[in-house]
Amino acid sequence: KGLLMSRLGEELVNNRFYSIKGNVPTIDKIPNGCSFNNRCECCNEKCLNDRPKLRELKNNHKISCFNIDLR
Ligand code: SF4
Repeated sequence: KGLLMSRLGEELVNNRFYSIKGNVPTIDKIPNGCSFNNRCECCNEKCLNDRPKLRELKNNHKISCFNIDLR
């Protein structure tokens, strides 16, 4: 959700483009669990311990997040 809101063309917030907090980690600093758990506003306990699997949405789009229900 945060990454989608960060795209060019999305609404400005306080006259600025939205961006998720933090910086892209170096390869040796990628956290355990979800790679975005220290930058995500929706992070929960599961995100800290497990890495979400890549799942197919549709039209060759994929998602890797515990908080998206594809049912
Ligand atoms: S799994 Fe989803 S909700 Fe959890 S930290 Fe990663 S992106 Fe955020």
